[in-house]
Amino acid sequence: MGKHILLLGPPGAGKGTQSKRLADEFDLEHVTTGDALRANKEMDISEMDTEYDTPGAYMDAGELVPDEVVNAIVEEALSSADGYVLDGYPRNLEQAEELSGMTDLDAVVYLSVDNDELVDRLTGRRVCPDCGASYHVEFEPPEESGVCDECGAELVQRDDDTEETVRERLRVYEENTAPVVEHYREEGILVEVDGEGTPDEVFEAIADVVDQ
Ligand SMILES: [Zn+2]
Repeated sequence: MGKHILLLGPPGAGKGTQSKRLADEFDLEHVTTGDALRANKEMDISEMDTEYDTPGAYMDAGELVPDEVVNAIVEEALSSADGYVLDGYPRNLEQAEELSGMTDLDAVVYLSVDNDELVDRLTGRRVCPDCGASYHVEFEPPEESGVCDECGAELVQRDDDTEETVRERLRVYEENTAPVVEHYREEGILVEVDGEGTPDEVFEAIADVVDQ
């Protein structure tokens, strides 16, 4: 039977990259709320006390999909997977409690990265307003500073990536997720992994946990 792995970590910790790699190497399904929502757009939720009859209708209307719908979709995605890496859920304690009722986890890996390091990573992103190419001033710089390799346009920093916004995002993450981390620590299945090494080093450390 495939492993059931939950990967937790703040924005910028490299969760997405590591989840994908874990899924590839251990032959697991990579389950994210975004993908699960897109895959279940047409799910019939008319029995629920919701405004719309399908998740897709919320997305089309540009409205936030209610928690209970997200929960149902995650349950659907997990029940159809043999093994999985869950990424981006649960975001708060209520969802963590919901998750306990859906599935048994083999391991919860928390990618820990210092806040200042996260700010460096998250504020270094530059995007091309013309072709959408994405760079990082430190980790993936364009050949010529501030200029898009693909089309020569001047690169910009998105409003989401300024230090003030990033620090606020990290604060909100911390506030919502600290109780989730605590919840799994108390259950004895939380393993903290240092997320500040190279992507290969971090992957090795996570793979060791999953192998146990
Ligand atoms: Zn460009």
